[in-house]
Parts: sequence; C-alpha cells; structure tokens
Amino acid sequence: MTKVKVECVKGNIAAQQDMDVVVNAANAELLPGSGVAGAIHSAAGPGLAEECRALAPIRPGQAVISSAHNLPNQHVIHCLGPVYGVDEPSDRLLADCFRNALYLADQNGLSSIAFPAISTGVFGFPLRDAAAVAMKAVADSLTELNSVRLVRFVLFSDQDLSVFDEARKLESDLSGQ
Ligand code: ADP
Repeated sequence: MTKVKVECVKGNIAAQQDMDVVVNAANAELLPGSGVAGAIHSAAGPGLAEECRALAPIRPGQAVISSAHNLPNQHVIHCLGPVYGVDEPSDRLLADCFRNALYLADQNGLSSIAFPAISTGVFGFPLRDAAAVAMKAVADSLTELNSVRLVRFVLFSDQDLSVFDEARKLESDLSGQ
C-alpha cells in the first residue's frame, strides 16, 4: 500500500507555501519566460536566474534542482517539457519530466512536491493527454519513493483542475485517495 498522497488543486504554482519543492515548466536555458517560468522567476527574484545559469541548458525530459531564493519553498526543480509534435516521443519525454523530478525530490530527502501542468501552455500538449501521462508517471514511480509523501498538481483553472482530477481517478493506484 502506498503512503504517498496525490492531490489536485486550483492555484498558483509560485504560491505553494506548504510544499518543500515546486516544479518549474522551464525553457532549455532556464531563463524567466511566460506562464509558469515567469511566475516562478518573478516570485523567486533575480538570484534564481543567476543560479540557473550554471545548470543550463537542459534537454526535454530532464530535471535539475536549485534553491528557491524568495519563493516560500526549499527548492525549485526545473523540468523541460517536450514541445508537442516537435520533441518526440512527446509522451515519453513528458513522463520523464515527472519521473525525474520525483526521483530528484526523493534523493534530496524532500517530502512534498508541487507540479504544474508541464507542456500544456505554450508547448501545446493537449491537456487531457498530458494529465493521463502525468498520473501514470506518478503511479509508476510510487514504489521507488522513500521520502516523498505528498504530490500536488496545481492547475490554473477550474476546467484544468477537473481534467487532472479525472485523470487521477482513472489511474487505479491513485484513485482511492
Ligand atoms: P509550457 O511551456 O511547459 O507549456 P507554460 O508555463 O506555458 O508551460 O504552461 C503550463 C501550464 O501551466 C498551462 O496549463 C498554464 O495554464 C499553467 N500556468 C501558467 N501560469 C501558472 C501559474 N502561475 N501557476 C500554475 N499554473 C500556471
């Protein structure tokens, strides 16, 4: 039986006070941008981009960890999602983001991690497909996690929230929560 709770909430990924680590839907250069990356970098302050310079560039599916600067968390994990229809196979690369971020959080002894809907903004991944990939990747990782106890998906709208929560309920290892 899993001791990991998986939940979906509506909110801003840059305002998750009770989470050890938040995940950035980053660009390859780990620079401030639009959407999630813009919100995370503006809340973190310029020190984040400075620290990230040494970690960039990253490739699709990869995850790297930094400190959180002025964010209310201990760390930020930066993932580069696939550009839909360009970085192939998109499903596998998106799943790699979730798996690699979870393992990185676990290796760092963190107990709670919040994800945005990686690749579903400017990178164009269809939301329903992305939600299914995300939930399967989390379910497949559960047995490997030792310190992570809470996985939260933070969605920007009620509609996105219901799509992700439906996908969670369809994933049998996560549905009973
Ligand atoms: P990508 O480049 O990986 O597609 P985006 O940042 O463009 O990433 O968008 C990813 C998803 O995050 C989209 O569904 C978007 O609506 C949502 N989003 C944008 N800003 C925020 C935020 N501050 N908190 C949570 N989700 C956000």
